[in-house]
Amino acid sequence: MHCTSRPIDLIRSLLIEMTLLSVALSSKVSDIRKAILLDPLTGVGNRRQMDELLQHEFDRATRYNSPLALLIADIDNFKAINDTHGQSKGDEILRKVAKQMYDSVRKLDTVCRYGGEEFAVIMPNTDTDAAETFSQRLLKEIEEGDFDGINVTVSAGLRSVAQYDFVTPNEFFDAADLALYRAKQNGRNQVVIYSPRKR
Ligand code: GH3
Ligand code: MG
Ligand code: MG
Repeated sequence: MHCTSRPIDLIRSLLIEMTLLSVALSSKVSDIRKAILLDPLTGVGNRRQMDELLQHEFDRATRYNSPLALLIADIDNFKAINDTHGQSKGDEILRKVAKQMYDSVRKLDTVCRYGGEEFAVIMPNTDTDAAETFSQRLLKEIEEGDFDGINVTVSAGLRSVAQYDFVTPNEFFDAADLALYRAKQNGRNQVVIYSPRKR
């Protein structure tokens, strides 16, 4: 009797198949992971990505004693923009603001849309001065941006890890949020750097 495939050939072809399957599977997993972490409207990161990345970068900054900055930005009077120009125009503005942010940041930075008209920029290895310079430039770019004649501005709060001691990523985020609240109170279209006392 003539045998066509030796056991060694069978094992080899099985191994090849298994390798191909595992490559296909890991690429699928990576596609799924990307989809889970992205905001479908704007294509930037979503709330989940922000939470994961903030924890990751926070741990890294603490371990290596490197600076970390977080900017959170909220579109000014967005409800009125929606009411006046319609929801789809509002969506278009959200996409343009996200793109402006994405185009302005460095490769290492990450932009996330963590709420309706709320964005975060996570900036590893960035001290307060550099983060402030970037933030001021970003706000100016948005203010001068082309939104079909609609006046679009954002208010922002900035928190840098090199500035003061802090304990958890949540407190880090809350500090930036408090600074954002002060920017709104101070008249909008501005960046406020977090300080423990109101300035
Ligand atoms: P402020 O300057 O204080 O931030 O005022 P605001 O009007 O921007 O804030 P407010 O929280 O009152 O309104 C936010 C608006 O954002 C209300 C909501 O309808 C709108 N919004 C949230 N998500 C979306 C979205 O996905 N698309 C559109 N078009 N609008 C959205
Ligand atoms: Mg808001
Ligand atoms: Mg708003």
